[in-house]
Formats: sequence, structure tokens, C-alpha cells
Amino acid sequence: MNPLYRRAEYVKSAHNLSQLLPDEGREVAFAGRSNAGKSSAINTLTGQRNLARISKTPGRTQQIVFFRLDDERRLVDLPGYGYAKVPPSLKRHWEHTLGAFLSTRQSLKGLILLMDIRHPLTDYDSQMLNWCAEAGMPAHVLLTKADKLGYGNAKNVLLQVQRDLGEYGGETSAQLFSSLKPHGVEELHACLNAWLQL
Ligand code: GDP
Repeated sequence: MNPLYRRAEYVKSAHNLSQLLPDEGREVAFAGRSNAGKSSAINTLTGQRNLARISKTPGRTQQIVFFRLDDERRLVDLPGYGYAKVPPSLKRHWEHTLGAFLSTRQSLKGLILLMDIRHPLTDYDSQMLNWCAEAGMPAHVLLTKADKLGYGNAKNVLLQVQRDLGEYGGETSAQLFSSLKPHGVEELHACLNAWLQL
């Protein structure tokens, strides 16, 4: 693992687009339905047990959270979507904010989209992929909790998702991932390294 990931540290949280860090350098963002395993994946890929805890702090779950890797590079934890308790006005705010973030953020080089392997490509995921395609933003899908399925079943879901991704027209890829096992961490690092030019 590039030691930069281990040195990832929390910088700030933004509730709207005016509070973002300056749009400079290179960023990779992480998105997914709540409970898809996003915090676990961020902790696993940085080798830090508690880094993404900050994104789970009450009041921060609906914020854009920035983690610094070095002066030029950041990881960005986007709010988990599909959370039932979010009021409709806040849901609309986030739909607007996420769409605008993906389409206008110059430093954003790619989106890691996390999906529980047992429930891939929900409507929300589909919307994110459409936004990515429109914005010309590459998207890499992590099929999380792959340990929940046997290897053969997991591989079949991966093949199906790879086929379905072709329909979105953008630059897409997908892999199996498990924070529990762990599995797929090197493949994820390879994708991040390419986008972050590491
Ligand atoms: P988030 O809401 O997307 O940030 O999801 P979390 O990382 O908090 O994970 C949601 C739940 O899924 C927790 O109970 C985790 O322990 C569990 N989980 C996360 N990753 C894995 C995994 O790789 N395998 C299994 N079996 N469970 C996982």
C-alpha cells in the first residue's frame, strides 16, 4: 500500500457547495446507499480503524467530508443516500448538491460507487451513474460485502453488473470487495493510484 493512504487525515466537512475545499489538485469521491459499507471501505483502504468514524458522527452523516492525503490529493466521503429518516427537503438538497458536485468539480477525477453485492444497482445508484456519464466522470463500482456470497455467486453478480454498467455509456469498471475478509483492496488501490496519479 502506498504510505500516503495510511497518512490520510480528516480536514473538513461541508454542508453545501460554498463550503467545499478549494477546487485544486486531485480528488476521488466515495458514494453509496447508507449501510453499503462505505465507512468500512474507507477505513480498510487507509489501514485506519477509525478514520471514517468522523463521517458517521451525528450531524456529519449528511455532509461532504474531506480527507487529506497530501497537499495535492484528497479522498471525499459523500453523504450516504437512501436513508429513510432524511426529510424530503434535505433529500432534495442533497440530490441537487451531489449532481452539481459531480458535474462541476474540476479536481474530482473519479467516483467510487459502493453497492452491497446483495442489492446492486438500486435507483439511486443508477442516478449516480447517469450523472457520472453526463459529467464525463469515470465510475468504479465496489460490490461490497462480497464475503456474504460464495465465490461463484459473487463472480456471477460481478459479471452481470459489468454487463449492466455498459448501458450507462460512461467510463465504468467494477470489482468485488470485502472489508471483512479483506478482499479487493489492491485492486481498489490500483484504481485510486491511477486517478490520483500516484
Ligand atoms: P456505510 O453506512 O456505507 O458507511 O456502511 P458501514 O461501513 O458502516 O457498514 C454497514 C454495515 O455493514 C456494518 O454493520 C458493517 O459491519 C457491515 N459491513 C461493512 N463492510 C462489510 C464487509 O465487507 N463484509 C460484511 N460481512 N459486512 C460488512
